[in-house]
Amino acid sequence: MTDPETDDRTVHPSVLSAAVDSRRLFAVQTQPLKTRASDALRKLEMAVRNHERELIDVLWKDLRKPELEAFVSEISVLYQEIQKLRKCARRFFRPVRHRTPMSFFWSGSRVRHEPYGAVLVIAPWNYPVQLSLVPVAGAIAAGNSVVLKPSELTPHVAALLETIAREAFPDGLLRVVTGDHREAEALLRQKFDYIFYTGNTKVGRIVMEAAARHLTPLTLELGGKSPAIVTRNADLDIAAQRIAWGKCFNAGQTCVAPDYVLVERTVHDTFLRKYQKALARMYGANPEQSSDYSRIVNDRHFNRISGLIDRTEGTVWNDVRNPGTRFVAPMVVIDVGWNDALMSEEIFGPVLPILKYDDVPEVFEVLCRRPKPLALYVFSKQRRESEGILQRVPSGGGCINDVVIHVASSELPFGGVGDSGFGRYRGVHSLRTFTYERAIVNHRIRPELRFRYAPYKGKLKIVRRLVGQ
Ligand code: NAD
Repeated sequence: MTDPETDDRTVHPSVLSAAVDSRRLFAVQTQPLKTRASDALRKLEMAVRNHERELIDVLWKDLRKPELEAFVSEISVLYQEIQKLRKCARRFFRPVRHRTPMSFFWSGSRVRHEPYGAVLVIAPWNYPVQLSLVPVAGAIAAGNSVVLKPSELTPHVAALLETIAREAFPDGLLRVVTGDHREAEALLRQKFDYIFYTGNTKVGRIVMEAAARHLTPLTLELGGKSPAIVTRNADLDIAAQRIAWGKCFNAGQTCVAPDYVLVERTVHDTFLRKYQKALARMYGANPEQSSDYSRIVNDRHFNRISGLIDRTEGTVWNDVRNPGTRFVAPMVVIDVGWNDALMSEEIFGPVLPILKYDDVPEVFEVLCRRPKPLALYVFSKQRRESEGILQRVPSGGGCINDVVIHVASSELPFGGVGDSGFGRYRGVHSLRTFTYERAIVNHRIRPELRFRYAPYKGKLKIVRRLVGQ
């Protein structure tokens, strides 16, 4: 992290008290948690609905996101999440009664779900609405106050999120701090009660170090290279079509996009042909003309992806790039080896390296030595085969015979494992993430058994007999 001495000067003073302000707001809330959840979710939903059209417009401005993709992956996901949270919150805050040990005589035991307090959400640029507001919805539904730091790479979205937050929560219960890494670092120096970070692994480490300084619990939603495995028992038409869709959605800038494909040698050529055909069906002969195809977010990422393509030792198909518009065509690279540049980092672009393998154990061997991915995709018509692969190759989540769609469900917990992060969210899993379990024993005032108090003389034997040890 940068030196606070030089860094704070550029940060607005109000940012430096964000955690304290947010905690103060948390502390003055008096409504019961259930009411607080439904109230906050209603306000958030209304403000988002009021600005739905503008959200789609700013997503186009910042990312050239096609309207359908913007609606499906950013807005509709959020509405579904809010609905699910509303439903879950009705039951979630009911205290759960537990059995009480005999030795507690006449007591009642229960667990309350308590919000942490002030939550800091740091969000990335690739799905800047969804990845900001879905965790925010979970955190406020759980009863917390929230400071959201959206990505500086999507500034129009960030500005609109600020407007939405102000409109929905004039009291500042949700506050948006715009800015770059300096604002993020200034926020991280403060003591929040929970941190929820989504972004790259390198910054994830910085966030975790900062959290450790205040002993703040956190969730890290990170990235990595998510493989798709296509066995000879796969339906190749389906595999090619679905992988092509997942790879090119948002021009490959999706944390759970299939990063590369491992194809069994005997079906490699057929898969490749079908993949190329699937691309042509979706984006025509010239994807640069297609209004359904996004652009790379900025020059730095364009140059990074270009560098990976230039350094590959594989054979590149459809290498069309336009630095002026940051267009990268949906490309396929064949004859790629494990040491290839394209295999050295998450690609985060529409370039698909295809690696061949001869037998499944060979795949286990290599994948088990690599960092655990955020997602794993297995294409096979044989259930036993796909279950066997799932059992041997760990990942945060994944699909059998599809890609990406597990993220779209508010029923399923979403998150990584190992290098792809830790912690889960969505629906009830968000409520669990943003609360802690508080165990309470309610003991009657009378009768008062004085046995437990000193002097202890002669009591140990009786205690042993009572607890049976
Ligand atoms: P980014 O550059 O927008 O950074 C994310 C956030 O971190 C931003 O708000 C940024 O201001 C902040 N940040 C940057 N430097 C910081 C610092 N030094 N200290 C504190 N905060 C800092 O986004 P990105 O990291 O390029 O996002 C892409 C990555 O995120 C990919 O690796 C992708 O796989 C991963 N990702 C993961 C998920 C998931 O749910 N697991 C979702 C989306 C993206």
